[in-house]
Amino acid sequence: MTVHLHHGDLPEGLDLGPVVAIDTETLGLKPRRDRLCLVQLSAGDGDAHLVKFGAPGVYEAPRLKALLADPKVLKVFHYGRFDIAVMKHHLGIDTQPVYCTKIASKLARTYTDKHGLKDLVKELVGVDLSKASQSSDWAAATLSRDQLDYAASDVLHLHKVKAILDAMLAREGRTALAAQCFAFLPTRAALDLAGWAGDGEGERDLFAH
Ligand code: MN
Repeated sequence: MTVHLHHGDLPEGLDLGPVVAIDTETLGLKPRRDRLCLVQLSAGDGDAHLVKFGAPGVYEAPRLKALLADPKVLKVFHYGRFDIAVMKHHLGIDTQPVYCTKIASKLARTYTDKHGLKDLVKELVGVDLSKASQSSDWAAATLSRDQLDYAASDVLHLHKVKAILDAMLAREGRTALAAQCFAFLPTRAALDLAGWAGDGEGERDLFAH
């Protein structure tokens, strides 16, 4: 496993293939308040590419943006709703097409309520992810070895997880339903940013009664 750290954008000429696992690290859980610090990507080959953003508000990154918007490249997330909203707000990009392992898990693994990435990777891949660096300062000028390894680990297993969940979805006849949920995700993220997150005080989900 190699972790490649890039500053401000992906390097020129890097081809991550037709299916790219992506995750983001931010300064917090509110996309409008908390800035995007890191975007992690993997082609599913055991390596991770980390794009670090420095100064607040500086998000040029033309190569990363092109990849996010490329209709020929499927972007695989775990809880993509958040990452897609974060990248739409900070990078000004509509990420598509997308796949979400959390939604796939909820549709396929109805025998459990454990759909966190750690639980999913443990059960399906047999790897125990450390979450020790999850809540750390991702805007630090220099990221620690632990931070880099943690950030990378969030994208390194998503291809395997997706393959297993795809088989389970097919087994249960839910492939089309899952695809429709994934297609709706960018709209769900746009609703979150536009004020229909459904998690505010006294505020219910748009689709609730
Ligand atoms: Mn992460």
